[in-house]
Amino acid sequence: MKRLFKTLQGLWSLAVGLKITGVELFKPWLTVHYPRQEVDNLATFRGHIELVPAADDPQTPRCIMCWKCVEICPSRCISLRLHAVGEGAEAGDPGLLLAPELKSPYSAHLPPPPDKIERVLDSYRLNYSLCSLCGLCVQSCPVEAIRFSRNAYLVGTTRQDFDLDLLARLRNPVDAPRPPGPRPPT
Ligand code: SF4
Ligand code: SF4
Repeated sequence: MKRLFKTLQGLWSLAVGLKITGVELFKPWLTVHYPRQEVDNLATFRGHIELVPAADDPQTPRCIMCWKCVEICPSRCISLRLHAVGEGAEAGDPGLLLAPELKSPYSAHLPPPPDKIERVLDSYRLNYSLCSLCGLCVQSCPVEAIRFSRNAYLVGTTRQDFDLDLLARLRNPVDAPRPPGPRPPT
């Protein structure tokens, strides 16, 4: 009698499992067959940060080089370099470093006050492998010059693959999300 009860119990458990499987089998799919298909609901996706272009020039960042994002980042994963116009970057050297608190490594003099000089952004890098996507940099930027990208397809095999040159990406958006739909044949 005990054995019969255990058998019936097992059969009932099997029937319940098969019922759940059958119901789920005919529900719409929530996943896609990447890379043959891609999702189209990336509006709220929070990818790595990216630079926002100026309104009148998509190749120029809106960034005013105020350093706030660098200072507030708890993971220390943002770094930027800049130079003053006429201070040598065009001639091939890195130019005068103009973080307000820094002296020029090429001169014994302090740099001129930041509001008296024209600055050019040479490099804006993100070590994405350290980023926690906390959003403090985006929130603290006074001119909304950085935002979260919708790059959901960033992959790499080494840590260096996530050392992102955001200035280069702004000028050559190789990883910009493509429109949804099947990929073109390669
Ligand atoms: S999202 Fe947070 S951790 Fe990532 S770069 Fe910005 S401040 Fe740093
Ligand atoms: S906070 Fe904004 S404007 Fe200031 S350096 Fe960062 S990205 Fe540029």
